[in-house]
Amino acid sequence: MDIESSCPYCGESITLSVDVTAGRRQIYVEDCWVCCRPMDILVTVHSRDDVDVEVRASDE
Ligand SMILES: [Zn+2]
Repeated sequence: MDIESSCPYCGESITLSVDVTAGRRQIYVEDCWVCCRPMDILVTVHSRDDVDVEVRASDE
């Protein structure tokens, strides 16, 4: 499932590919491909098509 979000540093809109089968709570780090800074991605899977994604600055 693709989730639209935005980079907490540069504000660029990003698309995250979330694997809804990988667990109800997922936390991982992804580098923004615009400013190359690490973002914490927090995923909560409620159901196959109901997913919350929170993007946080990792180094603050
Ligand atoms: Zn960025």
